[in-house]
Amino acid sequence: MPEFFPREIITDSDPLLRQKSVDVSLPLSKEDEETLLYMLHHLEVSQDDELSEKYGLRPGVGLAAPQLGILKKMIAIRLPYHQDDGTTKIVSYALINPKIISHSIKKAYLEGGEGCLSVPDDIVGYVYRYANISVKAYDYFTKQERIFKFRGYEAIVAQHEIDHLQGILYYDYIDENNPFKKVNGAIAI
Ligand SMILES: [Zn+2]
Repeated sequence: MPEFFPREIITDSDPLLRQKSVDVSLPLSKEDEETLLYMLHHLEVSQDDELSEKYGLRPGVGLAAPQLGILKKMIAIRLPYHQDDGTTKIVSYALINPKIISHSIKKAYLEGGEGCLSVPDDIVGYVYRYANISVKAYDYFTKQERIFKFRGYEAIVAQHEIDHLQGILYYDYIDENNPFKKVNGAIAI
């Protein structure tokens, strides 16, 4: 892993987090590429017990550029899947200008609720999102525009991150008066 120079993650007290991000021009500028690579690196470090403690990072699986105070449409996702044989499979996405182009009618939600690196106080409640989505984005890894089909947990994380590009935070969806209200037919994850 390259040397890590932590950057500040802004929190929901910062009005920047409520603004809309702008499209990123392609090919990526050096600066935008560095931002996106930093985002992936931050997630990687945050998921390492020792390093996250060393740098005081909360573990996270997704990060959007606005969380670094950069209002550009870029998101990074890094999901560790623990396998039966004891190894961990990592699935990463680095998406530029992601846009949800279709979605299921069916909804899904995380039983344990969502969290966010920009929200220091955990706000509890169910966040109902689409169970499946198709996202059109420029893929940093393959250097081409692609359509990604996300389902289940990945769909939830992708929607959470794409929301950041519109200035939306997960707790905006939580019904204050009934945070654990049930939605018929929604899948618990
Ligand atoms: Zn977030």
